[in-house]
Amino acid sequence: MIIFGPVPSRRLGRSLGVNNIPPKVCSYSCIYCQVGATDSMSIKRKEFYSSDQIYYEVAEKVRQLIKLGEKIDNITFVPDGEPTLDINIGNTIEKLKSFGIKIAVITNASLIWDIQVQKDLMKADWVSLKIDSVIENIWRKINRPHGLLDLQKILHGIEEFAASFRGILVTETMLVKGVNDNRESLSKTAQIDKGNKT
Ligand code: SF4
Repeated sequence: MIIFGPVPSRRLGRSLGVNNIPPKVCSYSCIYCQVGATDSMSIKRKEFYSSDQIYYEVAEKVRQLIKLGEKIDNITFVPDGEPTLDINIGNTIEKLKSFGIKIAVITNASLIWDIQVQKDLMKADWVSLKIDSVIENIWRKINRPHGLLDLQKILHGIEEFAASFRGILVTETMLVKGVNDNRESLSKTAQIDKGNKT
């Protein structure tokens, strides 16, 4: 199912979900992932569904919800994998803006060093970046990243993106007992969350 909800969200109100990635195609295989183990580990962006297919499915759902008098606060890209692996995401965001509803993206930030990913995310109104730890060995342990990913490149990409993004930018850190909840990891990660370098 590409479209789901709307679901109530603490941060995003009534959020209509867009599942633009097939289950568990991801650049990470986080130890806490609710979707299960990553079947298809990848950092290569490609097309999974066309922008038109997503647009028409959202249009249909929005039409139904308007008819029912239901409110939608955000259209949110929150798939069962990493949303920026979808090479069409920027184009799809542009198309969805025609509904006049805010667009949110929840990403693991692993591809944000790629300038084209930054440009695509710039089109959203609200972006959440996952930063579970800025300490290399803890990042590897908790997020189990694709072998070609480089934490320092990701952190640099986050700084670049934060300097030019004009929407609302938030970060998200999942705390796992005994893994990333120690004082050093928490304080260094919080420095990045506040926009300071480690
Ligand atoms: S980034 Fe998200 S989808 Fe990917 S493994 Fe981690 S929790 Fe699961």
